[in-house]
Parts: sequence; structure tokens; C-alpha cells
Amino acid sequence: MPQDKFYITTPIYYVNDVPHIGHAYTTIAADVVARYKRLEGYEVFFLTGTDEHGQKVQQAANDLNLSPQEHTNKLHQRFKELWVRLNISNSDFIRTTEERHKKLVRNILQELHSKGEIYQDSYEGWYCTPCERFWTEKDLAQGNCPECQRKVEKIKEHNYFFRMGKYQEWLIDRIKNDPHFILPASRRNEVLGFLDKPLEDLCISRPRSRLPWGIPLPFDEEYVTYVWFDALINYISIHGSLEEIKASGFWPADHNMVGKDILTTHAVYWSTMLKAIGLEPPKNIFAHGWWTVNGQKMSKSLQNVVEPNQLIEQFGVDAIRYFLLREVPFGLDGDFSHKALIGRLNSDLANNLGNLLNRTVNMMKKYCGGTIPTPATAGPEDEPLTTKAEEVIAEVRKLYGELAYNKILQKIWELVDTTNQYIDKTGPWNLAKTDEGKERLKTVMYNSAESLRVLGVLLNPFMPTSTESLMKQLGAETSIEDQGMISINEWGGLKPGSQTQKAKQLFPRIEDKQAKKILDELSEPKEDNKDSQITIDEFMKVELKTGKILEAEKVKKSKKLIQLKVDIGTETRQILAGIAGSYEPEDLVGRTVIIVANLKPAKLMGIESQGMVLAAGNDGKILLAGFDQEPGQGIQVR
Ligand SMILES: [Zn+2]
Repeated sequence: MPQDKFYITTPIYYVNDVPHIGHAYTTIAADVVARYKRLEGYEVFFLTGTDEHGQKVQQAANDLNLSPQEHTNKLHQRFKELWVRLNISNSDFIRTTEERHKKLVRNILQELHSKGEIYQDSYEGWYCTPCERFWTEKDLAQGNCPECQRKVEKIKEHNYFFRMGKYQEWLIDRIKNDPHFILPASRRNEVLGFLDKPLEDLCISRPRSRLPWGIPLPFDEEYVTYVWFDALINYISIHGSLEEIKASGFWPADHNMVGKDILTTHAVYWSTMLKAIGLEPPKNIFAHGWWTVNGQKMSKSLQNVVEPNQLIEQFGVDAIRYFLLREVPFGLDGDFSHKALIGRLNSDLANNLGNLLNRTVNMMKKYCGGTIPTPATAGPEDEPLTTKAEEVIAEVRKLYGELAYNKILQKIWELVDTTNQYIDKTGPWNLAKTDEGKERLKTVMYNSAESLRVLGVLLNPFMPTSTESLMKQLGAETSIEDQGMISINEWGGLKPGSQTQKAKQLFPRIEDKQAKKILDELSEPKEDNKDSQITIDEFMKVELKTGKILEAEKVKKSKKLIQLKVDIGTETRQILAGIAGSYEPEDLVGRTVIIVANLKPAKLMGIESQGMVLAAGNDGKILLAGFDQEPGQGIQVR
């Protein structure tokens, strides 16, 4: 019988990015499912890779005096190497600059152009070079790019468009009729919300004169392909030509796994592109959340980008794989903290699971001479353990369908706990004291070891290295991969007579002293940074605006306060300022001042102040900040 096929992908990562914990997270998550499906007997194709075209790559290459191709040849290695260190079992690695990819992109473009799905039109819009995106007038944020806040240029040019708009109704129906198509449900609603507005056609070309680093359009070499129209095709180009894709049995993919920031691109662009090509959309697009680090957004300037290579050295690969998927429900945002990681490593891994293996293997040596004994018929005390194992296995299988990693791990830990309790309750150390007890002891020791074998199989997709070591210690003769999920369908797969090996710690504890050292080292450079400098992002959070003082009066019973009415363009604010010692109210009316417009309102002397006026104070003399020319009201100051 042919094997059932299963296809899972990560997004292809932008080759210019430095691989961080977010990239590792998606890739580990996809890897766990791929490994699990293999254990279930599926023929699995697991794809990851790098997105290598576009302006930023070209720019970075120019700065380094390299050709873009030379540059990406170097850069993509950082991802490949990290995946090896993280034990990622991908079937292939696609690069969008490879011939096999470019070929299909061009064939698809040619076919869609011949079918009239692509047309030429003139286009006028606001263009953000760093983001490589056009924006309409209403998209702009105070005249700037809504995504990166940088300056935009007005550009008018001829371009090619994909008739995406005509698939709007089809797409809405598809999403509504298939609750599994886009997950989690909250994100599906966001996509439907986006589709409430008319769906426009997609500009899929860029003039080569402006952006040479891309795939030339086959029907007009003066243009290159828009990066998304190029990149998304990676999910199918790996399987060859359109005929080969259809024949491969790997399309539609079971999961296109993405970060929440690129969900719309996948749900809308990718699905409609496939529709036009004549292929099904993926069975599922799953958008996961983002990681902050110790409560803060990851950013290079904050120096808190968690470097996965460093984490691997400090804590070991499996602890990191476990932590990322255990800590936060897949789909929600999470916070990465070294403290939480150390906590989980010590309690879940070292204490609960590690000790269970350790005590079992040691007792096996002490009471059974290191040989797995033949169990007697199960008694009433054994039943809770075998029943729990059965329940956990069934539940885990179900939860994989929802990619509910944290629940899967929680569930598996119920079996860890039940097994520890089983040993405590049956007390092998007491059983060993009497002849009657010694017979019973065989069953207890067998069951404890068999439960660990079940745990080894269930945990293998998450922690491939540690679980193989666990299996060896238990004396199993075959690898977990060879045993498969089928080997835990029934209790009793562990062969009596097998020789256990010497007990070895799976997860060494991070002792308090060591933990303190790790945390201290981490906080040093960051604290520095925090005290003296802020990032442009942090500064941009402060909304400074110009405003004209319409009214001013002294606050009764206060020596310092003046109550102002300030027109900030969109509204009039009541603001209190401590400037009565330096200004008379009548001198203030008509003056333009700078105010902090997004300050939380506060009450002073029972009067609400809706903002703050900027001023410089020295020796009791206070001077209002202002301008040498009249800027007008409601203008942003920065
Ligand atoms: Zn931008």
C-alpha cells in the first residue's frame, strides 16, 4: 500500500535577516509536526528556505561590494547552519535564486499572462523604497509609510497587474466554508475583515531600471517580478513543473506555517494566485504569534535579539525546543525569558522527567540486575497507569490536528506525573524486602520502564536527541523512528530480557549559582542601554505637537499653575502648566507652544490636565519652548 503523504512548510526567511528566536520558533514547530507524522507512518515532505530577491538584498550587497548572488550565497548559510544545530529534519531547502525556482515562477507568469490574468496598466502611488511597497494616499500615516514611518515618494509608472480582485467572493466563501483553512480563528476573522473592503488587483512587477535584483518577467524583460509573487511560489516550485506538482501527491500542502505579520499575504495573495494557476489553496495556513524578550520587543538596537546559537550552547537544543513550544499556546504572542527557561528546564525536564528515568534505570539495576523483567498479569494498582497512558496517547493524536503544542506537552506530562506517583505508591524498595513482594516488583519495574518507553515515543518529535538516549538507557534495541507511534498502540512493547544501560542524566539541572551568573551577564549590557539611551521607536511613541494657546487663567489657590486652552488642530485641550511665576496669562494667549499630546490625563488641584507643555526651567525662571517662525497648529514635532 502506498504511504499517505504529508506536506508542511515554514515561510522562506528573508536572507538579510539575522536568524533569531522567531525564525527558530516557526522552524522547530514545523519540525515537530514533520517528525510526528513520520512516526505515524506518513511520507513527509518538510520544506524551509530563504527569500533572496529584492531591494534590501541588492543594497546590502552593494554596500559590501559584492554581487547580490555572491552575497546571498554567503548569507543563506546562516539559516542552514542553524537548522542543523537545532536538529531540524527538513527534506529540502529552497532558495528563490535557484534555477528550479525561477523556472516555475517564469512559467506561471507566462501562463497567467497568456490567459489574460495579468495585464498592463499605469500606476500612480506612494512608494516606500525600504518596504518595496506602494501605498495609496489614505494608507499613509502623516504623509509617511504606515509600516516603517519613513518618507515615501510619489511614483507614476507602467506596471503589470494580477487580476486578484475577481477572486474576492470565491476567497470569502472558501474561508467561511472551511474553518480549518485559516487558523487560529481570531486570525481568520482578521482576514475576513480585510476582505470586507473591495479587493484590488495586485501589482506584480517592478521596473528593472529601479530594481534589477529580481526574476525578469518572461513577457517583458524590462520588468522584474514583485518579491511576493516570486517568493510564495517556493511552496510549489520545490516539486517541479505544474504537472509534476500535481503528480507529486504533496499539493495542496497540509500546513503553510507563517508568522502573523505575513498572514494576509498568504491567505489572500497566495490563495488567489493558486486559484488562477488552477491549483488548490493549502489545506491550512496557520499564523503563529510573536516573541518579545523579557517583556520587550526584539530589536537590534536594544541588543536583546536572542541569539539561538548562544542559547543552544548554554542550555542544549532539546531544552530550547521544549521551552518554545511549551511556554506559549501556538498562535498567541509570547515572552521569552531566560528565567522562565531555566525554571522549566529544572522543574519539568530535570526534576520530573529526568528523575523518573534516572530512578527507574537505577532500580532496574538494583532489583532486576539491569534486565527488563517479565511482568505478571496487571493488578488494580497498575490500572491507573495503563489507562492514563491510553488516554494521553489518544489525546495527543487529536491535539496535533490543532497544532496545540503546549497542550500536547501538558498532556504528556500527566503521564510523567502518573508514572512518578505509581512508583511512589507501589514502593519498589519495600517490595524488594519480601519474597511475595519480589514477584510483584517485576510487574512494577516493567510498567515503569514501559511507561518511559511510551513517553520516549511521544516526546521524540519535540526532543529527538534526549529521547533516543532515554530509549537506549531502557535497553530498547531499535530507534524510536523504527518503533513509530504504532509501537505504543498497545501496552507492552518493551521486550523482557533487554539489558538496560547505565543511568545518565538527560537534563542536568542549572544550579542557582549558575543561573544567577547567566542572568547577570544578560542584564549587564542591556541595563546600560536602558539607562542612557532610547531607540528611535521609543522616542516616536511620544506624540509632540504644536498648539496655539486660546485662553489662559491663573488657577486659584495655586502660586504656580496656569490653566490653558490649547488648540492642537484637531481639538482643543485643557492643559495645566506650572509657569505662573514666569508668565502673565494675558501674555500667553496667541502663543504657539509644543505639547505632549499622548500623555495620560492627570488631575492637579482638582482640574484635569490633558497634556503637557514643553518648557525649560532654570533658577526658578521658566521659558516656554517655541519656534522662530509660526508653524501652524497640530503639526508633529520631532
Ligand atoms: Zn516603509
